[in-house]
Amino acid sequence: MNIECVICKTLLTPSDNVCNTSCGHIFHFPCLVQWLKRSETCPQCQERTTEQSIFRILFNIPNNDSIIEDPASLQCKIDNLNSQVKLKDSTINNLAEDKQKLKKQATDLRHEVQRVETEISGKNDAIYALQDQVNFYKQQCSDASNLSKENEELKQKLEHLKNIQRIMD
Ligand SMILES: [Zn+2]
Ligand SMILES: [Zn+2]
Repeated sequence: MNIECVICKTLLTPSDNVCNTSCGHIFHFPCLVQWLKRSETCPQCQERTTEQSIFRILFNIPNNDSIIEDPASLQCKIDNLNSQVKLKDSTINNLAEDKQKLKKQATDLRHEVQRVETEISGKNDAIYALQDQVNFYKQQCSDASNLSKENEELKQKLEHLKNIQRIMD
């Protein structure tokens, strides 16, 4: 049942502050009090009405889910939920975009890792080749030093022989 307060033209809900006149018409309490300050008549039937002749109406509101909500407040809830759904949808879209971006980044990074690994393996090959060269040169150095030692010994022998020659002469 929809009941309208004709003063403010909105629907009365059980939780509103409501009152009725002695002529039986129902309004918001604050609306009627304001109205009576200008004119001491019922806004609906013009019967004489004063603040002393009106009664507050107190509804018993069941404290459970069986409350039947008025269409306006239901529509308001639906709009609210719809806008929440829209917000969540756009959040989901943003997250999906982020996921796509991160996936691409992961792929790029994997390629980069592969490239660096190839580079490292190439550099390792170069290091092994250089180590071989170093070993070769070390060997040559040691050969040269052996030869020079032999040379020294031969020189000494030659000197010795020259001395013997000089004595014989
Ligand atoms: Zn009202
Ligand atoms: Zn009335």
